[in-house]
Amino acid sequence: MRLFKRVSVFILCFSLAIFIYSCSDSSTDPGDPSQEEFNSKAGTGESAEHFLQSDTYSNIEIELDYMEGYKPTEGAIDSLESFLNNRLNKNSITINTSKIPARGDGPYSTEMITTIEEDERDNYTEASGSTLHAYIVVVDGELSDNPNVLGIAYWNTSMALFGETIDNISSSDPTSPSEQQVENTVLRHEVGHNMGLVGNGTPTQSDHKTEDSAHCTNDECLMAPSVQTGDIFQNISGDVPSLDEACIQDLKANGGK
Ligand SMILES: [Zn+2]
Ligand SMILES: [Zn+2]
Repeated sequence: MRLFKRVSVFILCFSLAIFIYSCSDSSTDPGDPSQEEFNSKAGTGESAEHFLQSDTYSNIEIELDYMEGYKPTEGAIDSLESFLNNRLNKNSITINTSKIPARGDGPYSTEMITTIEEDERDNYTEASGSTLHAYIVVVDGELSDNPNVLGIAYWNTSMALFGETIDNISSSDPTSPSEQQVENTVLRHEVGHNMGLVGNGTPTQSDHKTEDSAHCTNDECLMAPSVQTGDIFQNISGDVPSLDEACIQDLKANGGK
């Protein structure tokens, strides 16, 4: 317990300002929506409505690539799926996992991760389609900027988990959270950012956004900043922190459930 407390765990808290400007607005004919491209390199939370609602995309498919040796537990995948089923208004929710070669190039910068995505991602959202495609990659290393970060949501449909950091946290002490617990929490938290929480793509319905980041002021919420310190696992009674009522109200007001 003491050892675990010393480990400062940051679960993703980058609203990374990576904006790749596409010129789709000027290069397409506005009269023909089928020619407009879906920008998969917009900022975190910018496609929140597309995650939550079914107006444009009635289905969601998540491609989860893991580097060899860092396969997420089946329980974590099931847990993410039930989380999405509970919050997204979609006809179908699919998570496809596949193994990709280990690179051994860690620690990884966000830029390196975007290159891995370009190499490995197979599915992108088509503006004229009915399926929103999202991408999660589990890498075999740590984040170069901060070795305690467990995951990041770096583009509007793109997220990464740091397998080595998750392993370290879940095996640091006999009282540490299990690998599945950590994975459950990180996966939900990162997708939560791309669902526009908190106040970053999905407008807040009450005053519960932290001042300096897209997080919730409720210490026990999935989107709380206390998640960043790893203390979240000691603050909660269940396995995985839940979204609190304030965050759920935000999602409902933006077309989720
Ligand atoms: Zn966060
Ligand atoms: Zn909350």
